Amino acid sequence: MSPIPIADDCVVTFHYQLTLEDGTVADSTRGGEAFAYLHGHHGIVPGLERQLGGRQAGDKLQIEVPPAEGYGEFDPAAEQQVPRAAFPEEHEPVVGMMFHTESRSGEPQPIWVKALSGDQVTITRNHPLAGRTLTFAVEIVGVRRAKPEELTHGHVHGPGGHHHH
Ligand code: ZN
Repeated sequence: MSPIPIADDCVVTFHYQLTLEDGTVADSTRGGEAFAYLHGHHGIVPGLERQLGGRQAGDKLQIEVPPAEGYGEFDPAAEQQVPRAAFPEEHEPVVGMMFHTESRSGEPQPIWVKALSGDQVTITRNHPLAGRTLTFAVEIVGVRRAKPEELTHGHVHGPGGHHHH
């Protein structure tokens, strides 16, 4: 069977190590289960998805993703201070914690806790990796066509994906 090039509606399984400009390793699947996603369904950052297109199982590549195609540009205006009392008791704020609020249009919006100082909490709409150039060392493990129910759900079932049924 000839290898399948990565295209929309393919299930792609890969190992990766994510490194930032300063050499910090931000994330890695090494030593664990490979990550699986459905190509063309926005399951991974846009720049990574775009550059994986046309590749195939066995490929090893270094992919650089600028902020605009990664977790967005850093927006200093996206930060604000709120009193700690604004958090419900069962949700004690912790630095790095992510939660959802509703935007003005009613969309769920992710918010991160950036800092704690006295009874003030700094929250931000910037993803922790906003403004960073991401370098992914990728090894593509497998490429297959998605099953109809995976396309309906918009995510991968089985190893590296969802295990909800
Ligand atoms: Zn599902």
